[in-house]
Amino acid sequence: MQKSIDMQELLEAIESSDSEKVPESLSGMFSGPMDRPIYDQGPAASQHRNPFYDPGESIFSQLLERILQGYALKLENEGEESSASLDILLDGVSDSVLIMSPSGKIIEANQAFFRTFGYQRSDLIDSPIYELLPEGYRAAFHQRLADFSMQGDAPRSATPDDILAFRGLLHDGSVVSMDCLLTAIQLGNEPAVIALIRDLSFDHALFQQLKETREHYVALSETITEAIFRLDDEFNIIFANSGVKNTFGWEREEVVHQPFSILFPPEVFAKHEGEFRKYFYVDDQDRKAVGLKRTFEFLGTTKHRGVAPMEMSFGNSKEHKGRTLTCVIRDITQRKTIERKLRHLAFHDKLTGLGNRDLFNEDMANMLANPEHDSSWRGCVLFLDLDGFKHVNDTLGHDAGDELLIETGRRLRVCLREHDTAYRFGGDEFVVVLSNIKDVSDGVIVAERILASVSDLYILRSKSKNSGSRVNVGVSIGVAIIPDNGATIEEATKSADIAMYCSKEEGKNRYTIYDPAVSAKATARWQMEQEMKTALGDGGFKLFYQPIVGADGKVRGMEALSRWRRTDGDQVPPSVFIPLAEESGMIIPLGDWALRRACYDTRRIHDRGFKDIYVSVNVSSHQFEQPNFADELESIVKGSGLSPSCLKLELTESTIMHDTKDAIERFNDIKKRLPGISFMVDDFGTGYSSLAYLSQLPVDALKIDISFVLNLAELQNEKVVNAIINLGHSLKLDIVAEGIETKEQWAYFSERDCGFMQGYYFLRPAPLEEVYALIAKEAKAEAIAAGNAASAKSPLTA
Ligand code: C2E
Ligand code: MG
Ligand code: MG
Repeated sequence: MQKSIDMQELLEAIESSDSEKVPESLSGMFSGPMDRPIYDQGPAASQHRNPFYDPGESIFSQLLERILQGYALKLENEGEESSASLDILLDGVSDSVLIMSPSGKIIEANQAFFRTFGYQRSDLIDSPIYELLPEGYRAAFHQRLADFSMQGDAPRSATPDDILAFRGLLHDGSVVSMDCLLTAIQLGNEPAVIALIRDLSFDHALFQQLKETREHYVALSETITEAIFRLDDEFNIIFANSGVKNTFGWEREEVVHQPFSILFPPEVFAKHEGEFRKYFYVDDQDRKAVGLKRTFEFLGTTKHRGVAPMEMSFGNSKEHKGRTLTCVIRDITQRKTIERKLRHLAFHDKLTGLGNRDLFNEDMANMLANPEHDSSWRGCVLFLDLDGFKHVNDTLGHDAGDELLIETGRRLRVCLREHDTAYRFGGDEFVVVLSNIKDVSDGVIVAERILASVSDLYILRSKSKNSGSRVNVGVSIGVAIIPDNGATIEEATKSADIAMYCSKEEGKNRYTIYDPAVSAKATARWQMEQEMKTALGDGGFKLFYQPIVGADGKVRGMEALSRWRRTDGDQVPPSVFIPLAEESGMIIPLGDWALRRACYDTRRIHDRGFKDIYVSVNVSSHQFEQPNFADELESIVKGSGLSPSCLKLELTESTIMHDTKDAIERFNDIKKRLPGISFMVDDFGTGYSSLAYLSQLPVDALKIDISFVLNLAELQNEKVVNAIINLGHSLKLDIVAEGIETKEQWAYFSERDCGFMQGYYFLRPAPLEEVYALIAKEAKAEAIAAGNAASAKSPLTA
């Protein structure tokens, strides 16, 4: 009987946020049916279709007919069989069936009736029905019953007007909403009323649940700031939440019953309509298989803001009226703005605002893949490297250097056509791409324009110097034509880079068009530089050590010297790869690597019991002048666990003299961070150290330049060597002589009280283990000598 509620209608009422749409037959349920007067069946109740009660061929009329037949038989025969068949008939009905006299005396009822009210059959037969009603309902029920039984004597089909709502008083004292359908009948000659009673508590519970679900749904859809729409399969909006206002600026009333297409620019809707339609019929779990995305980005039309980027997700459902599609649409303007900003940050150089290497690669890939390019198409890559940038940076400071780069970026933009682009690859390296040229002459025109523009005077206002500086720089340019000098990104950039090398080698501040015939030397150099970049990560570099001995010939320390073997097996001397590394900037990672390796290796020697051995590491001027050099050094030394007192940094005289004030500040800073660390002036005697400065420098040792030692026989050199030794002694600095190849040279320096010596005579630069073996051998010899001396003195062995 519970089925008799029209679920469809109920669901529709629940879904509608508009209470006017709730069918009246159900509206009481929304407001609490228990509180309504019992005979409150408005005229609209008759609209409520109920297959059970319906006039005509309703289930009830059929049932009624059969009950009456059964009863007639029972009266006629009073036979066991007919009585039993009536009982079976009544008990086969799941709702309560009751036959009573017009005065309300219960004559007969089925099992369901007794079960519902909680009584035994014997308790109720011949009792008045009113005992089963709460006090306040009895009079009204009685009246209704009397009216009803007077209406006629012939059985007739029930009409919905015959349904009356009341409340039943159960045996356990609880009061339950029910409704019943009364029909006047004749039992033999006696008038009677037959009642079909439904317990509404289940319907009420179900309804309550649906009502709560509806409230949750409404609360949810109203708290969401996104727009929610439901569409019928004609793409009409049948529901919209208040988020529509927030997202599109429309009131929900303005969009409900409108076509979905009003939310899009016409071309956008036309483009996506087919795809949208698929979401109607493909269930969520099957979307991936047919290539439908979970979310959909598009441009939506707002009421006041024109078009805006939106994101939509879909959920379809089958309903009695067909399929509907629920769309949740959010405005993603803000997200898109952030994405754009992040992308800009990721693909642009912060200083100049030009694109970076990643953007260059992306743009180049797009350009090379452009389907509109036929075989006559030509592009061009120009590689640019400023001449004299380092000097500006060193003399005027980094602010001025930055300003120079910013201004160069601006000048490059001015030199280019709309479709051509400038990028900064880092440092003073710029790249220009011409997306469409007639022939090489177009590349030449741009190169000449850039040369002229960059050669113009720069006026830099460096903050640190607090005044404008007039500066001239140049630019070395390499030009490569695509696809002639390289059809891929790698080949085209390599050719332009090599051509730029040629410009540098030929005197700078010029352009060179790539020519494989004349670029052989530059190509080899370029190749080496590229290989060097990968060698550092691939273990191509090794660190060798050369012992530094005291005047007694015993090892006191060792100098770390880098070695590079190319993949073809060639050993490249430091005199070749160090300048190349300095030019390409590779010296920074290479120098850091050597420093770290040296600290860890020396720490290993200490761990083996030789805690006094020190290591001397060469530091290039580029490395030393890095703003974060002290931080990097501190972290490496502390990370290795090496005592700073066992680390000496070798800097050339020119590095220190380049900006003595700055060098002094750096030395002092480093000494504060790493107490005990020493600084040594390498290749001393070749530069122009003034005595006045040397006495102020916080350096600890001087290393006599190898050329004086190797050519000691020349009187001039001998004089210089003696002067350096005397200077060192008077300034209380250690003196190291390197390049000791002979016993005589060793003797010469030992006699002059030169504290430390280094040279092939003792050992050539060698792998760590060889140096360690020498140290261990010396220690062993010393122990044996000490043992012999001890045993010679011992009274026992005497
Ligand atoms: P340097 O620092 O003055 O190193 C001494 C150079 O003299 C080394 O050359 C060493 O092998 C060589 N030498 C030592 N004893 C003798 C000898 O008795 N006779 C002769 N003829 N030569 C001797 P090497 O290893 O070729 O290094 C050359 C330069 O390269 C070094 O000069 C140093 O300035 C630079 N260098 C080497 N490794 C590194 C490094 O890791 N970083 C930096 N920044 N520079 C390095
Ligand atoms: Mg050195
Ligand atoms: Mg040296």
